[in-house]
Amino acid sequence: MALIGIGQGGSLSPLTLSGMAAATNEGAGAASGTGEAFQSPHQGLLIMKTIGYAAQTAGAPLAPFTFERRPLRPNDVAMEILYCGVCHSDLHTARNDWGWTLYPAVPGHEIVGRVTEVGSAVNRYKVGDAVAVGCLVDSCQECDHCHHGEEQFCSNGRTDTYNSPDRISGAITYGGYSKHLVVREEFVLRVPEGLDLAKTAPLLCAGITTYSPLRTWNVGPSSRVGVIGLGGLGHMAVKLAIGLGAEVTVMSRTKDKAADALALGADRLLVSTDEQAMAKAQSGFDLIIDTVPVKHDLNPYLPLLDVDGTLVLVGQVGPLAEPNTVPMILGRRRIAGSLIGGIRETQEMLDFCARKNILPECEMIRMDQINEAFERLEHADVRYRFVIDMASLDSSAGAKA
Ligand SMILES: [Zn+2]
Ligand SMILES: [Zn+2]
Repeated sequence: MALIGIGQGGSLSPLTLSGMAAATNEGAGAASGTGEAFQSPHQGLLIMKTIGYAAQTAGAPLAPFTFERRPLRPNDVAMEILYCGVCHSDLHTARNDWGWTLYPAVPGHEIVGRVTEVGSAVNRYKVGDAVAVGCLVDSCQECDHCHHGEEQFCSNGRTDTYNSPDRISGAITYGGYSKHLVVREEFVLRVPEGLDLAKTAPLLCAGITTYSPLRTWNVGPSSRVGVIGLGGLGHMAVKLAIGLGAEVTVMSRTKDKAADALALGADRLLVSTDEQAMAKAQSGFDLIIDTVPVKHDLNPYLPLLDVDGTLVLVGQVGPLAEPNTVPMILGRRRIAGSLIGGIRETQEMLDFCARKNILPECEMIRMDQINEAFERLEHADVRYRFVIDMASLDSSAGAKA
């Protein structure tokens, strides 16, 4: 998915340090907004040294990077990261494709680990628990959206897991391509018993990004769901929609993906360049999840929606090819967007996946293979999600340091 600093109004601006500092929720007078050294009177003093992989500039490959995690605040959970999924947003951020990357950038927001330490006020987690962190690490916890469990739409600005200023210190957040992480308790998720830890990682972004619209538009046993694109997001949309009982059609420009779609459990593949098949499929869908990550034309897909049907965009960030309003007006059809999901819904998704045994298809890599993985990701050459085994970090970092 695309997790970026876009305001709710759709303004394409990065969340600024000053804006975030103004929204600080712990009035300790600590929001310097400068990212400089910071020490709160009520937190521990032990800074955790850790190692990760960072991009130092837009053109540089990711390379080993030693840095510090903050001392534990009372409501913080510290974890050792075991696995981290590789999302398209990681690549866009590392390369500054959206123009607001702050370097050095440590990407990664599909994080699974084990608790190593908890702050004095933490009561939900204990040392040794299997936990996860997704795209969010903080929000104001006070606005209507936060109260409704939709922290991703926090009126005062969510804090992303990477490339985002910390609400208290102003320091830029570093993500999961690293050995350790410190996150406030409210943004830590529990990995349910029985879920494979490595394969759980991609659920934290690809999973929730597709689960949230399925739930928002009430997909269930009688639903007819279409999925455009069969990459990291698309293959999760297929699995989750099937898990919810829907009839699922994968939509693709060629029939090359037919076998893959059926293997994932989809009922059929609809070839979007086959005019006859597209005409026959008209008005046959309640919800279409569009995971295509680049600019594309929605017009062939809109007539596929039934009256009141919705095409929801979760992949591409930016301008679309001009949509024709005729099918929208004649069929009360909608084009919508969706951004990850809140913490409550993310936990619900993890529990759902554990119950239904739904997991992504993953290709495990070592940390030092990340640059190669980025290149393959750019060419959609992965089935369907890379996951970094963080146990490889010490040796690969040491070899290159
Ligand atoms: Zn992501
Ligand atoms: Zn809020």
